[in-house]
Amino acid sequence: MQIVRSGSLLVLMVLVCAFAATAQDSSSAALPATSLKSAPTSAPAQAAPAPTADPLPPAAATLNDVLDRVVQREHLFMAQMRHMHPMIETYLQDLKDDKDGGTSPVKDQYFLGRLDMSDGPEDVSFVGQPGFGHRMVAKLTGVYSLHFLPMGFAQMVVLDSDFQKKYYNFTFVRREFLGEVRCLVIDVQPKEGDRVSRFMGRIWVEDQDYNIVRFNGSYYPQPKINFFFHFDSWRLNMRPGTWLPAYVYTEESNLKTGLTKTLHFKAQTRLWGYDLKSLGKNEEFTQILIDSPQSVNDQSPTAADATPVVAERMWEQQAEENAVDRLQKIGLLAPPGDVDKILATVVNNLLVTNNIDLQGDIHCRILLTAPLESFTIGHTIVMSRGLLDVLPDEASLAMVLAHELSHIVLGHRLDTKLAFNDKMFFPDEESFQRMDFKRSPAEEAAADTKALELLKNSPYKDKLGNAGLFLKALQEKAPELTHLIRPHLGNSFADRKNVRMASLLASAPALDEKRLDQIAALPLGGRIKLDPWTDQVELSKAKPVALTSAREKMEFEITPFFPYLTRLSANGTEKVALTAGSPSQTHQK
Ligand SMILES: [Zn+2]
Repeated sequence: MQIVRSGSLLVLMVLVCAFAATAQDSSSAALPATSLKSAPTSAPAQAAPAPTADPLPPAAATLNDVLDRVVQREHLFMAQMRHMHPMIETYLQDLKDDKDGGTSPVKDQYFLGRLDMSDGPEDVSFVGQPGFGHRMVAKLTGVYSLHFLPMGFAQMVVLDSDFQKKYYNFTFVRREFLGEVRCLVIDVQPKEGDRVSRFMGRIWVEDQDYNIVRFNGSYYPQPKINFFFHFDSWRLNMRPGTWLPAYVYTEESNLKTGLTKTLHFKAQTRLWGYDLKSLGKNEEFTQILIDSPQSVNDQSPTAADATPVVAERMWEQQAEENAVDRLQKIGLLAPPGDVDKILATVVNNLLVTNNIDLQGDIHCRILLTAPLESFTIGHTIVMSRGLLDVLPDEASLAMVLAHELSHIVLGHRLDTKLAFNDKMFFPDEESFQRMDFKRSPAEEAAADTKALELLKNSPYKDKLGNAGLFLKALQEKAPELTHLIRPHLGNSFADRKNVRMASLLASAPALDEKRLDQIAALPLGGRIKLDPWTDQVELSKAKPVALTSAREKMEFEITPFFPYLTRLSANGTEKVALTAGSPSQTHQK
């Protein structure tokens, strides 16, 4: 990440990964003889490369051969990325040291855009500071105005846009498994005297096609007016033979950016929505063309004109479908999937125990972004990935769903202007301005009251203390985590003064940060796994671990990424496994 420095000399940070003290050009040294033996039984059979790639060459024998392949694959990667336009989201928390030696967030930042590398890494902003990008860099000079320059985070999906062997010294470190993928671990250092900033750190190279799957370090030398952050960048095997960026974790604990200013933060960058084309409706269209003429006819049981009431419902449904389709097409909404069904089960529990028979199905969908929000689009309840991540239990999930369900039960209207199809023609990056599902304060209050009534008749009635505890924690963090709690499409969950479903606060126990058995909220990223290629979400299968100290509660906080890497089989039918494993899963061979 590149940011402008205010002029004083910069104290360079020690690299995240340690280097051999006497790093030298060892690129021609042979690998240890034992290192190229057959893979263990846990590793999958040799995967075939992408159909367009050359046939798999014989295994590289020396580090020099490996590096030739790595450089070749990295240039192929850059060429691929120029045609990819994934969503890119960065969420950052500024930290301060606590009196008991831990850290806690004091401020946050959020950026969402679409990556466009056709002319180098740049991104189109959906939210955040509009207009930021290459053009703005030269104009802004203040350190704080540029600290969190989104373009800088996009930069960290690229090791070096002109990666060449001649620019670097390489040192083989060891072999290591990341998940089930065996990797060569190589330290990389720019050669002395190179004025251009280049990557310095460690790379993990999978040992079949020699793609870089992880790199960890920073860029050096730090230019006079810029500096770079430390990052840990991960790629996933999204198509056979193709590894694309999915996660970047950034952290600085003591970066001096001036005489008095010190940066202390951590940030998560996520990428998804690589395969947006297949998320459209093209398949259905093809279906209509090849079907017999009769099948396109209206198949509804009452083949007659709609009554006024039915017409009104159909009109609202059209607005709902337009909005949901659009959100999915641009990569903001996950396609229908299993997580939706889990939410629908909770909604059904609420409906059945309250004897409510709603005309028409209620659908639940997942918004793929981090800020905590939920809203309804007609009869579709939408919850954000971030909100699902941090909710501690089913009762608090029921609390969120009960509020949204109440909007539907009370007949709160969807703005039906979206039923006119021309209303949907706007640039993707304007989605947050053009689509708005906010409710009036009166509707919010009515939904809160109704939701409490629904919850009190439901199987969750005895566990509402936990939901209240979550709301308490949320309200307490609201002043610091304004960007996490700021909704983009719906109503705010909490602010300094108000919190949704405030009546539940009374039944909640007192917040106690020290108590290990009181979990008011979870860290971000712990529950929902997102396939960056298909945008499908599923619940993480990682087992919860016992906490050893209250510091590990990390409610609403950012943590590093440790995805469990897997390799796609040749036919590409396996799904990308994204289980967030513990660091111990990164065992060494
Ligand atoms: Zn509401």
